[in-house]
Amino acid sequence: MNTPELPAREAMEFDTVIVGAGPAGLAAAIRLKQLAPERTVVVVEKGSEVGAHILSGAVIDPIGLDRLIPEWRGEDTPIKTAVTADHFYALGASGALRLPNFLLPPLMSNHGNFIVSLGDVCRYLAKKAEALGVEIYPGFAAAEVLFENGVVAGIATGDMGIGKDGHHKASFTRGMELRGKYTLFAEGARGSLTKTLIERFALAQDRQPQKFGIGLKELWQVAPEKHRRGLVQHTMGWPLDNRTGGGSFLYHFDDNLVSVGFVVHLNYQNPYLSPFEEFQRFKTHPLVRDTFLGGKRISYGARAITEGGFQSVPKLAFPGGALIGCAAGFVNVPRIKGSHNAMLSGMLAAEHVAAALAHGRANDELGDYEAAWRSSAIGRDLWRVRNAKPLWSKLGTFAGVALGGLDMWTNTLGFSLFGTLKHGKADFATLQPAAQCLPIAYQSARYCPAGVYEWVEEGGQPRFVINAQNCVHCKTCDIKDPNQNINWVPPEGGGGPNYPNM
Ligand SMILES: Cc1cc2nc3c(=O)[nH]c(=O)nc-3n(C[C@H](O)[C@H](O)[C@H](O)COP(=O)(O)OP(=O)(O)OC[C@H]3O[C@@H](n4cnc5c(N)ncnc54)[C@H](O)[C@@H]3O)c2cc1C
Ligand code: SF4
Repeated sequence: MNTPELPAREAMEFDTVIVGAGPAGLAAAIRLKQLAPERTVVVVEKGSEVGAHILSGAVIDPIGLDRLIPEWRGEDTPIKTAVTADHFYALGASGALRLPNFLLPPLMSNHGNFIVSLGDVCRYLAKKAEALGVEIYPGFAAAEVLFENGVVAGIATGDMGIGKDGHHKASFTRGMELRGKYTLFAEGARGSLTKTLIERFALAQDRQPQKFGIGLKELWQVAPEKHRRGLVQHTMGWPLDNRTGGGSFLYHFDDNLVSVGFVVHLNYQNPYLSPFEEFQRFKTHPLVRDTFLGGKRISYGARAITEGGFQSVPKLAFPGGALIGCAAGFVNVPRIKGSHNAMLSGMLAAEHVAAALAHGRANDELGDYEAAWRSSAIGRDLWRVRNAKPLWSKLGTFAGVALGGLDMWTNTLGFSLFGTLKHGKADFATLQPAAQCLPIAYQSARYCPAGVYEWVEEGGQPRFVINAQNCVHCKTCDIKDPNQNINWVPPEGGGGPNYPNM
Protein backbone atom coordinates (compact mmCIF):
# COMPACT_ATOMS: atom_id res chain seq x y z
CA MET A 1 0.00 0.00 0.00
CA ASN A 2 1.35 3.46 -0.88
CA THR A 3 1.27 6.18 1.77
CA PRO A 4 -0.86 8.98 0.18
CA GLU A 5 1.73 11.79 0.32
CA LEU A 6 4.44 9.68 -1.32
CA PRO A 7 4.73 9.20 -5.07
CA ALA A 8 3.49 5.82 -6.28
CA ARG A 9 6.05 3.04 -6.55
CA GLU A 10 6.88 1.49 -9.87
CA ALA A 11 5.91 -2.15 -10.11
CA MET A 12 7.36 -5.10 -12.01
CA GLU A 13 5.66 -8.48 -12.48
CA PHE A 14 7.41 -11.86 -12.20
CA ASP A 15 6.36 -15.47 -11.95
CA THR A 16 8.48 -15.87 -8.82
CA VAL A 17 10.07 -13.34 -6.49
CA ILE A 18 12.82 -14.53 -4.15
CA VAL A 19 14.06 -12.55 -1.13
CA GLY A 20 17.71 -13.25 -0.33
CA ALA A 21 20.61 -14.55 -2.44
CA GLY A 22 21.94 -17.12 0.01
CA PRO A 23 22.18 -20.83 -0.77
CA ALA A 24 18.40 -21.29 -0.30
CA GLY A 25 17.29 -18.42 -2.55
CA LEU A 26 19.82 -19.14 -5.28
CA ALA A 27 19.10 -22.90 -5.30
CA ALA A 28 15.39 -22.11 -5.64
CA ALA A 29 16.05 -19.69 -8.51
CA ILE A 30 18.26 -22.18 -10.37
CA ARG A 31 15.81 -25.07 -9.91
CA LEU A 32 12.91 -22.95 -11.16
CA LYS A 33 14.78 -22.06 -14.35
CA GLN A 34 15.93 -25.67 -14.84
CA LEU A 35 12.30 -26.82 -14.67
CA ALA A 36 10.61 -23.93 -16.49
CA PRO A 37 13.09 -21.78 -18.47
CA GLU A 38 10.27 -19.59 -19.79
CA ARG A 39 9.25 -18.44 -16.29
CA THR A 40 10.55 -15.13 -14.92
CA VAL A 41 12.45 -15.23 -11.64
CA VAL A 42 13.89 -12.29 -9.69
CA VAL A 43 16.11 -12.34 -6.59
CA VAL A 44 16.66 -9.30 -4.33
CA GLU A 45 19.68 -9.19 -2.04
CA LYS A 46 20.36 -6.54 0.63
CA GLY A 47 24.16 -6.94 0.45
CA SER A 48 26.04 -4.67 -1.95
CA GLU A 49 26.85 -7.81 -3.97
CA VAL A 50 25.94 -11.48 -3.71
CA GLY A 51 27.96 -12.94 -0.81
CA ALA A 52 28.58 -9.61 0.95
CA HIS A 53 26.29 -10.57 3.85
CA ILE A 54 26.99 -14.31 3.89
CA LEU A 55 28.82 -15.54 6.97
CA SER A 56 29.13 -19.24 7.67
CA GLY A 57 31.75 -21.83 8.74
CA ALA A 58 31.73 -23.53 6.37
CA VAL A 59 32.06 -27.24 5.98
CA ILE A 60 29.42 -28.17 3.46
CA ASP A 61 27.69 -31.47 2.85
CA PRO A 62 27.49 -31.55 -0.96
CA ILE A 63 24.13 -33.40 -1.11
CA GLY A 64 22.29 -30.22 -2.19
CA LEU A 65 24.87 -29.18 -4.75
CA ASP A 66 25.10 -32.70 -6.20
CA ARG A 67 21.36 -32.67 -6.85
CA LEU A 68 21.24 -29.08 -8.15
CA ILE A 69 24.34 -28.97 -10.35
CA PRO A 70 25.48 -32.58 -10.86
CA GLU A 71 28.36 -31.42 -13.08
CA TRP A 72 29.93 -29.08 -10.47
CA ARG A 73 32.83 -31.39 -9.62
CA GLY A 74 34.17 -31.02 -13.15
CA GLU A 75 33.97 -27.22 -13.14
CA ASP A 76 36.16 -24.41 -11.83
CA THR A 77 34.41 -23.70 -8.52
CA PRO A 78 35.40 -22.17 -5.16
CA ILE A 79 34.96 -25.65 -3.63
CA LYS A 80 38.57 -26.81 -3.58
CA THR A 81 39.32 -28.34 -0.17
CA ALA A 82 38.03 -31.79 0.73
CA VAL A 83 37.98 -32.63 4.45
CA THR A 84 40.95 -34.88 5.26
CA ALA A 85 40.97 -34.93 9.08
CA ASP A 86 38.20 -34.49 11.61
CA HIS A 87 39.00 -33.75 15.28
CA PHE A 88 36.64 -33.15 18.19
CA TYR A 89 37.86 -31.97 21.63
CA ALA A 90 36.45 -31.28 25.07
CA LEU A 91 38.36 -28.27 26.45
CA GLY A 92 39.38 -27.40 29.98
CA ALA A 93 41.12 -24.14 30.94
CA SER A 94 44.55 -25.43 29.94
CA GLY A 95 44.04 -28.94 28.60
CA ALA A 96 42.12 -30.68 25.84
CA LEU A 97 40.72 -34.19 25.56
CA ARG A 98 40.28 -35.54 22.04
CA LEU A 99 37.18 -37.71 21.61
CA PRO A 100 37.96 -40.72 19.42
CA ASN A 101 36.04 -40.56 16.12
CA PHE A 102 34.57 -44.06 16.61
CA LEU A 103 32.59 -42.76 19.63
CA LEU A 104 30.83 -40.15 17.50
CA PRO A 105 27.61 -41.12 15.73
CA PRO A 106 28.26 -41.75 11.99
CA LEU A 107 26.06 -38.77 11.01
CA MET A 108 28.70 -36.50 12.61
CA SER A 109 31.41 -37.63 10.20
CA ASN A 110 32.76 -35.00 7.81
CA HIS A 111 34.12 -37.53 5.36
CA GLY A 112 33.08 -36.46 1.84
CA ASN A 113 32.42 -32.85 2.90
CA PHE A 114 34.23 -29.72 1.70
CA ILE A 115 35.66 -26.64 3.44
CA VAL A 116 34.60 -23.46 1.67
CA SER A 117 33.80 -19.79 1.91
CA LEU A 118 29.98 -19.95 1.66
CA GLY A 119 30.01 -16.37 0.32
CA ASP A 120 32.14 -17.55 -2.60
CA VAL A 121 29.86 -20.56 -3.17
CA CYS A 122 26.93 -18.11 -3.38
CA ARG A 123 28.85 -16.02 -5.93
CA TYR A 124 29.32 -19.20 -8.00
CA LEU A 125 25.61 -20.09 -7.67
CA ALA A 126 24.62 -16.54 -8.66
CA LYS A 127 26.61 -16.85 -11.90
CA LYS A 128 24.85 -20.15 -12.63
CA ALA A 129 21.48 -18.56 -11.92
CA GLU A 130 22.17 -15.55 -14.15
CA ALA A 131 23.32 -17.81 -16.98
CA LEU A 132 19.88 -19.44 -16.80
CA GLY A 133 18.16 -16.04 -17.01
CA VAL A 134 17.45 -15.26 -13.35
CA GLU A 135 17.47 -11.51 -12.61
CA ILE A 136 19.47 -10.75 -9.46
CA TYR A 137 19.37 -7.31 -7.85
CA PRO A 138 22.02 -6.88 -5.14
CA GLY A 139 21.94 -3.70 -3.08
CA PHE A 140 18.15 -3.87 -2.62
CA ALA A 141 16.59 -4.83 0.70
CA ALA A 142 13.06 -6.18 0.66
CA ALA A 143 11.46 -3.91 3.24
CA GLU A 144 7.76 -4.69 3.01
CA VAL A 145 5.54 -7.64 2.10
CA LEU A 146 2.79 -6.71 -0.37
CA PHE A 147 -0.62 -8.11 0.49
CA GLU A 148 -3.71 -8.20 -1.67
CA ASN A 149 -6.91 -9.48 -0.09
CA GLY A 150 -4.82 -11.06 2.64
CA VAL A 151 -2.65 -12.92 0.14
CA VAL A 152 1.09 -12.30 -0.40
CA ALA A 153 1.49 -10.61 -3.79
CA GLY A 154 5.25 -9.81 -3.71
CA ILE A 155 7.53 -7.42 -1.88
CA ALA A 156 8.58 -3.78 -2.02
CA THR A 157 12.19 -2.72 -1.75
CA GLY A 158 12.95 0.04 0.75
CA ASP A 159 12.82 3.75 -0.06
CA MET A 160 16.30 5.25 -0.43
CA GLY A 161 17.62 8.64 0.69
CA ILE A 162 15.98 8.97 4.12
CA GLY A 163 17.91 10.94 6.78
CA LYS A 164 18.56 9.68 10.33
CA ASP A 165 15.68 11.81 11.63
CA GLY A 166 13.30 10.47 8.96
CA HIS A 167 13.44 13.47 6.59
CA HIS A 168 13.66 12.89 2.83
CA LYS A 169 17.03 13.92 1.42
CA ALA A 170 17.47 15.32 -2.10
CA SER A 171 18.45 11.80 -3.15
CA PHE A 172 15.10 10.34 -1.93
CA THR A 173 13.77 7.63 -4.25
CA ARG A 174 10.78 5.36 -3.78
CA GLY A 175 11.36 1.63 -3.59
CA MET A 176 10.12 -0.76 -6.28
CA GLU A 177 7.24 -3.20 -6.06
CA LEU A 178 8.25 -6.65 -7.24
CA ARG A 179 5.05 -8.60 -7.71
CA GLY A 180 5.03 -12.36 -8.04
CA LYS A 181 2.64 -15.26 -8.51
CA TYR A 182 4.66 -16.82 -5.69
CA THR A 183 7.18 -15.22 -3.32
CA LEU A 184 9.84 -17.30 -1.59
CA PHE A 185 11.43 -15.86 1.57
CA ALA A 186 15.09 -16.92 1.87
CA GLU A 187 16.29 -14.28 4.34
CA GLY A 188 18.25 -16.71 6.51
CA ALA A 189 18.11 -16.83 10.33
CA ARG A 190 15.65 -14.34 11.88
CA GLY A 191 14.59 -12.75 8.60
CA SER A 192 12.91 -9.40 9.19
CA LEU A 193 10.04 -10.00 6.74
CA THR A 194 9.88 -13.67 7.72
CA LYS A 195 9.28 -12.56 11.31
CA THR A 196 6.22 -10.54 10.28
CA LEU A 197 4.88 -13.41 8.15
CA ILE A 198 5.29 -15.93 10.99
CA GLU A 199 3.23 -13.62 13.16
CA ARG A 200 0.58 -12.68 10.60
CA PHE A 201 -0.13 -16.24 9.44
CA ALA A 202 0.49 -17.80 12.92
CA LEU A 203 3.06 -20.10 11.28
CA ALA A 204 4.72 -21.00 14.58
CA GLN A 205 1.48 -22.08 16.24
CA ASP A 206 1.79 -25.55 17.83
CA ARG A 207 5.55 -25.50 17.28
CA GLN A 208 8.35 -25.24 19.81
CA PRO A 209 9.92 -21.74 19.98
CA GLN A 210 12.75 -21.23 17.48
CA LYS A 211 16.15 -21.33 19.21
CA PHE A 212 19.29 -19.52 18.11
CA GLY A 213 23.00 -19.23 18.63
CA ILE A 214 25.29 -16.36 17.74
CA GLY A 215 28.21 -17.40 15.57
CA LEU A 216 31.30 -15.18 15.51
CA LYS A 217 33.92 -15.79 12.90
CA GLU A 218 37.34 -14.61 11.81
CA LEU A 219 39.19 -15.50 8.64
CA TRP A 220 42.97 -15.80 9.04
CA GLN A 221 45.88 -16.11 6.65
CA VAL A 222 48.27 -18.27 8.70
CA ALA A 223 51.97 -19.01 8.37
CA PRO A 224 52.43 -21.83 5.81
CA GLU A 225 54.03 -24.15 8.38
CA LYS A 226 50.94 -23.83 10.59
CA HIS A 227 48.50 -24.75 7.82
CA ARG A 228 46.99 -28.24 7.65
CA ARG A 229 44.79 -28.10 4.58
CA GLY A 230 41.62 -30.16 5.02
CA LEU A 231 41.68 -30.24 8.85
CA VAL A 232 38.33 -29.73 10.56
CA GLN A 233 38.43 -29.20 14.33
CA HIS A 234 35.56 -28.64 16.77
CA THR A 235 35.61 -28.03 20.52
CA MET A 236 33.12 -27.75 23.35
CA GLY A 237 33.62 -26.60 26.94
CA TRP A 238 36.09 -23.85 27.98
CA PRO A 239 35.81 -20.86 28.08
CA LEU A 240 32.05 -21.41 28.50
CA ASP A 241 30.81 -22.83 31.79
CA ASN A 242 28.83 -26.07 31.86
CA ARG A 243 25.46 -24.23 31.81
CA THR A 244 26.28 -22.21 28.69
CA GLY A 245 26.02 -24.06 25.40
CA GLY A 246 28.34 -23.49 22.49
CA GLY A 247 31.70 -24.37 21.02
CA SER A 248 34.30 -23.54 18.44
CA PHE A 249 35.16 -24.47 14.88
CA LEU A 250 38.49 -24.24 13.10
CA TYR A 251 38.76 -25.12 9.42
CA HIS A 252 42.03 -25.12 7.41
CA PHE A 253 41.36 -24.61 3.71
CA ASP A 254 42.61 -23.32 0.37
CA ASP A 255 45.96 -21.48 0.44
CA ASN A 256 46.92 -20.98 4.10
CA LEU A 257 43.43 -19.86 5.11
CA VAL A 258 41.89 -20.76 8.47
CA SER A 259 38.28 -20.03 9.41
CA VAL A 260 37.98 -19.83 13.16
CA GLY A 261 34.66 -19.29 14.86
CA PHE A 262 32.77 -19.56 18.10
CA VAL A 263 29.07 -20.22 18.61
CA VAL A 264 27.27 -19.30 21.85
CA HIS A 265 23.75 -20.64 22.33
CA LEU A 266 21.48 -17.66 22.90
CA ASN A 267 19.63 -19.31 25.78
CA TYR A 268 22.51 -18.31 28.08
CA GLN A 269 21.38 -16.90 31.42
CA ASN A 270 24.09 -14.49 32.59
CA PRO A 271 23.50 -10.96 31.24
CA TYR A 272 27.19 -10.15 31.85
CA LEU A 273 28.28 -12.67 29.20
CA SER A 274 29.76 -11.27 25.98
CA PRO A 275 29.95 -13.84 23.16
CA PHE A 276 32.62 -11.69 21.44
CA GLU A 277 34.88 -11.68 24.51
CA GLU A 278 34.40 -15.45 24.99
CA PHE A 279 35.56 -15.95 21.40
CA GLN A 280 38.67 -13.87 22.05
CA ARG A 281 39.40 -15.91 25.20
CA PHE A 282 38.98 -19.15 23.25
CA LYS A 283 41.74 -18.14 20.83
CA THR A 284 44.23 -18.02 23.73
CA HIS A 285 43.80 -21.75 24.54
CA PRO A 286 47.03 -23.78 24.14
CA LEU A 287 45.25 -26.09 21.64
CA VAL A 288 44.75 -23.27 19.13
CA ARG A 289 46.75 -20.13 19.93
CA ASP A 290 49.88 -21.28 18.11
CA THR A 291 47.92 -21.52 14.84
CA PHE A 292 47.56 -17.74 14.77
CA LEU A 293 51.08 -16.71 15.73
CA GLY A 294 52.72 -15.02 12.76
CA GLY A 295 49.38 -14.95 10.90
CA LYS A 296 47.08 -12.13 9.86
CA ARG A 297 43.37 -11.69 10.50
CA ILE A 298 41.68 -10.86 7.20
CA SER A 299 38.09 -10.32 8.31
CA TYR A 300 35.67 -10.53 11.21
CA GLY A 301 31.90 -10.86 11.42
CA ALA A 302 28.95 -12.44 13.17
CA ARG A 303 25.61 -13.98 12.32
CA ALA A 304 22.80 -15.71 14.15
CA ILE A 305 22.29 -19.41 13.47
CA THR A 306 19.02 -21.29 14.01
CA GLU A 307 19.16 -24.14 16.53
CA GLY A 308 15.54 -25.21 17.13
CA GLY A 309 15.66 -27.97 14.51
CA PHE A 310 12.78 -30.32 13.71
CA GLN A 311 10.44 -29.27 16.56
CA SER A 312 10.73 -25.55 15.75
CA VAL A 313 10.27 -25.51 11.97
CA PRO A 314 7.23 -23.28 11.41
CA LYS A 315 4.48 -23.96 8.89
CA LEU A 316 6.28 -23.24 5.63
CA ALA A 317 3.51 -22.30 3.22
CA PHE A 318 0.96 -19.50 3.29
CA PRO A 319 -1.20 -17.94 0.58
CA GLY A 320 1.14 -16.62 -2.12
CA GLY A 321 4.46 -17.76 -0.72
CA ALA A 322 6.68 -19.95 1.40
CA LEU A 323 9.71 -19.95 3.69
CA ILE A 324 12.91 -21.70 2.61
CA GLY A 325 16.36 -22.27 4.16
CA CYS A 326 17.25 -20.81 7.53
CA ALA A 327 14.24 -18.48 7.39
CA ALA A 328 12.49 -21.75 8.28
CA GLY A 329 15.36 -22.95 10.52
CA PHE A 330 16.74 -26.06 8.82
CA VAL A 331 20.12 -26.21 10.61
CA ASN A 332 21.32 -29.57 11.91
CA VAL A 333 22.79 -28.29 15.20
CA PRO A 334 25.22 -31.07 16.21
CA ARG A 335 26.62 -31.10 12.67
CA ILE A 336 26.65 -27.23 12.59
CA LYS A 337 25.39 -27.49 9.06
CA GLY A 338 22.46 -25.82 7.37
CA SER A 339 23.61 -24.87 3.90
CA HIS A 340 22.77 -28.32 2.44
CA ASN A 341 19.22 -28.15 3.81
CA ALA A 342 18.93 -24.52 2.69
CA MET A 343 19.65 -25.67 -0.87
CA LEU A 344 17.44 -28.75 -0.64
CA SER A 345 14.50 -26.71 0.72
CA GLY A 346 14.96 -24.07 -2.00
CA MET A 347 14.86 -26.82 -4.63
CA LEU A 348 11.86 -28.55 -3.02
CA ALA A 349 9.87 -25.31 -2.89
CA ALA A 350 10.87 -24.49 -6.49
CA GLU A 351 9.61 -27.86 -7.68
CA HIS A 352 6.21 -27.17 -6.09
CA VAL A 353 6.13 -23.61 -7.45
CA ALA A 354 6.93 -24.86 -10.98
CA ALA A 355 4.19 -27.51 -10.76
CA ALA A 356 1.67 -24.94 -9.49
CA LEU A 357 2.55 -22.47 -12.27
CA ALA A 358 2.25 -25.25 -14.87
CA HIS A 359 -1.32 -25.81 -13.64
CA GLY A 360 -2.11 -22.12 -14.04
CA ARG A 361 -2.21 -21.53 -10.30
CA ALA A 362 -1.05 -18.30 -8.63
CA ASN A 363 -0.94 -16.70 -5.17
CA ASP A 364 -2.40 -19.72 -3.40
CA GLU A 365 -0.92 -21.95 -0.72
CA LEU A 366 1.78 -24.47 -1.68
CA GLY A 367 0.37 -27.14 0.60
CA ASP A 368 2.32 -29.94 -1.12
CA TYR A 369 5.64 -28.29 -0.21
CA GLU A 370 4.50 -28.15 3.40
CA ALA A 371 3.57 -31.83 3.28
CA ALA A 372 6.79 -32.91 1.55
CA TRP A 373 9.64 -31.63 3.71
CA ARG A 374 9.34 -34.01 6.66
CA SER A 375 9.67 -37.14 4.50
CA SER A 376 12.43 -35.56 2.39
CA ALA A 377 16.20 -35.68 3.04
CA ILE A 378 15.76 -32.51 5.14
CA GLY A 379 13.26 -34.13 7.49
CA ARG A 380 15.41 -37.27 7.83
CA ASP A 381 18.51 -35.15 8.58
CA LEU A 382 16.78 -33.12 11.31
CA TRP A 383 14.74 -35.96 12.86
CA ARG A 384 17.76 -37.99 14.00
CA VAL A 385 19.27 -35.07 15.93
CA ARG A 386 16.08 -33.53 17.33
CA ASN A 387 16.94 -34.18 20.99
CA ALA A 388 20.56 -32.97 20.93
CA LYS A 389 19.76 -29.30 21.62
CA PRO A 390 17.04 -29.84 24.29
CA LEU A 391 19.31 -32.30 26.17
CA TRP A 392 22.20 -29.82 26.03
CA SER A 393 19.97 -26.99 27.30
CA LYS A 394 18.48 -29.06 30.13
CA LEU A 395 21.54 -30.99 31.36
CA GLY A 396 24.46 -28.69 30.59
CA THR A 397 27.36 -29.30 28.25
CA PHE A 398 28.96 -32.50 29.47
CA ALA A 399 25.93 -34.62 30.44
CA GLY A 400 23.82 -33.07 27.66
CA VAL A 401 26.34 -33.73 24.89
CA ALA A 402 26.97 -37.30 26.15
CA LEU A 403 23.25 -38.16 26.23
CA GLY A 404 22.67 -36.27 22.97
CA GLY A 405 25.38 -38.45 21.41
CA LEU A 406 23.70 -41.60 22.73
CA ASP A 407 20.36 -40.40 21.36
CA MET A 408 21.89 -39.77 17.94
CA TRP A 409 23.32 -43.32 17.99
CA THR A 410 19.94 -44.86 18.85
CA ASN A 411 18.20 -42.68 16.25
CA THR A 412 20.65 -44.01 13.67
CA LEU A 413 19.30 -47.45 14.61
CA GLY A 414 15.73 -46.15 14.28
CA PHE A 415 14.57 -45.37 17.83
CA SER A 416 14.96 -42.84 20.66
CA LEU A 417 14.81 -43.30 24.43
CA PHE A 418 13.49 -39.76 24.79
CA GLY A 419 10.72 -39.43 22.19
CA THR A 420 10.78 -35.81 21.04
CA LEU A 421 11.91 -33.38 23.72
CA LYS A 422 10.72 -29.77 23.99
CA HIS A 423 12.87 -26.64 23.99
CA GLY A 424 10.94 -24.67 26.62
CA LYS A 425 11.50 -20.90 26.74
CA ALA A 426 12.37 -18.64 23.83
CA ASP A 427 15.93 -17.29 24.08
CA PHE A 428 14.95 -13.74 25.13
CA ALA A 429 13.22 -15.17 28.21
CA THR A 430 16.23 -17.06 29.61
CA LEU A 431 18.31 -14.14 30.95
CA GLN A 432 18.36 -13.84 34.73
CA PRO A 433 18.51 -10.49 36.57
CA ALA A 434 22.10 -9.20 36.76
CA ALA A 435 21.87 -9.10 40.59
CA GLN A 436 21.51 -12.90 40.62
CA CYS A 437 24.53 -13.48 38.35
CA LEU A 438 28.28 -13.34 38.78
CA PRO A 439 29.83 -10.44 36.87
CA ILE A 440 32.39 -11.55 34.27
CA ALA A 441 35.64 -9.60 34.17
CA TYR A 442 35.59 -7.96 30.75
CA GLN A 443 34.02 -4.71 29.61
CA SER A 444 32.01 -4.51 26.47
CA ALA A 445 28.51 -3.96 25.12
CA ARG A 446 27.37 -7.51 25.68
CA TYR A 447 25.19 -9.38 23.22
CA CYS A 448 25.94 -7.13 20.26
CA PRO A 449 29.23 -8.31 18.71
CA ALA A 450 29.86 -5.04 16.88
CA GLY A 451 29.59 -2.33 19.54
CA VAL A 452 26.39 -0.86 18.08
CA TYR A 453 24.74 -0.15 21.44
CA GLU A 454 26.85 2.03 23.71
CA TRP A 455 26.49 4.14 26.85
CA VAL A 456 28.72 7.25 26.75
CA GLU A 457 29.30 9.83 29.49
CA GLU A 458 28.26 13.37 28.55
CA GLY A 459 28.49 16.14 31.17
CA GLY A 460 28.51 13.48 33.88
CA GLN A 461 25.29 11.95 32.49
CA PRO A 462 25.04 8.61 30.74
CA ARG A 463 23.75 8.86 27.15
CA PHE A 464 22.66 5.92 25.00
CA VAL A 465 24.20 5.93 21.51
CA ILE A 466 23.35 3.65 18.59
CA ASN A 467 26.33 3.24 16.23
CA ALA A 468 24.19 1.86 13.42
CA GLN A 469 27.05 2.04 10.92
CA ASN A 470 28.86 -0.75 12.84
CA CYS A 471 26.00 -3.23 12.47
CA VAL A 472 26.97 -6.55 10.85
CA HIS A 473 23.34 -7.72 10.43
CA CYS A 474 23.75 -10.69 12.77
CA LYS A 475 20.19 -10.15 14.21
CA THR A 476 21.22 -11.11 17.77
CA CYS A 477 19.71 -7.99 19.38
CA ASP A 478 16.34 -8.81 17.80
CA ILE A 479 16.51 -12.32 19.29
CA LYS A 480 18.07 -11.78 22.71
CA ASP A 481 16.81 -8.39 23.92
CA PRO A 482 14.97 -9.46 27.10
CA ASN A 483 12.23 -6.86 26.68
CA GLN A 484 11.84 -7.56 22.95
CA ASN A 485 12.06 -3.82 22.33
CA ILE A 486 14.40 -4.15 19.38
CA ASN A 487 12.85 -4.85 16.00
CA TRP A 488 15.78 -5.08 13.59
CA VAL A 489 14.93 -4.01 10.04
CA PRO A 490 17.32 -3.81 7.08
CA PRO A 491 18.82 -0.40 6.37
CA GLU A 492 18.89 0.97 2.82
CA GLY A 493 20.07 -1.69 0.41
CA GLY A 494 23.83 -2.06 0.06
CA GLY A 495 24.51 -1.12 3.70
CA GLY A 496 25.95 -3.46 6.31
CA PRO A 497 29.07 -5.59 6.10
CA ASN A 498 31.05 -6.26 2.95
CA TYR A 499 32.43 -9.71 3.60
CA PRO A 500 34.94 -10.68 0.90
CA ASN A 501 34.86 -14.45 1.49
CA MET A 502 33.15 -15.43 4.76
C1 LIG B 1 28.97 -19.02 12.37
C2 LIG B 1 28.20 -19.96 11.50
C3 LIG B 1 28.81 -21.13 11.08
C4 LIG B 1 28.12 -22.00 10.24
N1 LIG B 1 28.76 -23.11 9.78
C5 LIG B 1 28.16 -23.89 8.85
C6 LIG B 1 28.88 -24.95 8.23
O1 LIG B 1 30.05 -25.18 8.52
N2 LIG B 1 28.23 -25.69 7.30
C7 LIG B 1 26.93 -25.44 6.95
O2 LIG B 1 26.39 -26.13 6.08
N3 LIG B 1 26.22 -24.46 7.53
C8 LIG B 1 26.82 -23.67 8.46
N4 LIG B 1 26.12 -22.62 9.02
C9 LIG B 1 24.70 -22.44 8.67
C10 LIG B 1 24.58 -21.87 7.26
O3 LIG B 1 25.38 -20.72 7.14
C11 LIG B 1 23.13 -21.55 6.99
O4 LIG B 1 22.35 -22.71 7.21
C12 LIG B 1 22.90 -21.07 5.56
O5 LIG B 1 23.71 -19.95 5.28
C13 LIG B 1 21.43 -20.74 5.34
O6 LIG B 1 21.25 -20.31 4.02
P1 LIG B 1 20.05 -19.32 3.66
O7 LIG B 1 20.15 -19.11 2.19
O8 LIG B 1 18.80 -19.83 4.23
O9 LIG B 1 20.36 -17.97 4.46
P2 LIG B 1 21.64 -17.01 4.45
O10 LIG B 1 22.86 -17.76 4.08
O11 LIG B 1 21.62 -16.29 5.74
O12 LIG B 1 21.34 -16.00 3.26
C14 LIG B 1 20.30 -15.07 3.35
C15 LIG B 1 20.55 -13.96 2.34
O13 LIG B 1 19.39 -13.15 2.27
C16 LIG B 1 19.76 -11.78 2.36
N5 LIG B 1 18.62 -11.07 2.96
C17 LIG B 1 18.13 -11.24 4.21
N6 LIG B 1 17.06 -10.44 4.40
C18 LIG B 1 16.89 -9.76 3.25
C19 LIG B 1 15.94 -8.79 2.83
N7 LIG B 1 14.94 -8.39 3.63
N8 LIG B 1 16.06 -8.27 1.58
C20 LIG B 1 17.06 -8.68 0.75
N9 LIG B 1 17.98 -9.61 1.10
C21 LIG B 1 17.88 -10.15 2.33
C22 LIG B 1 21.00 -11.79 3.22
O14 LIG B 1 21.77 -10.61 3.02
C23 LIG B 1 21.71 -13.05 2.74
O15 LIG B 1 22.53 -12.81 1.63
C24 LIG B 1 26.77 -21.73 9.86
C25 LIG B 1 26.17 -20.55 10.30
C26 LIG B 1 26.88 -19.66 11.10
C27 LIG B 1 26.22 -18.39 11.54
S1 SF4 C 1 22.93 -4.12 16.19
FE1 SF4 C 1 21.95 -6.14 16.35
S2 SF4 C 1 22.10 -6.98 14.26
FE2 SF4 C 1 23.56 -5.28 14.37
S3 SF4 C 1 25.52 -6.24 14.94
FE3 SF4 C 1 24.55 -5.57 16.89
S4 SF4 C 1 23.37 -7.36 17.59
FE4 SF4 C 1 23.91 -7.73 15.41
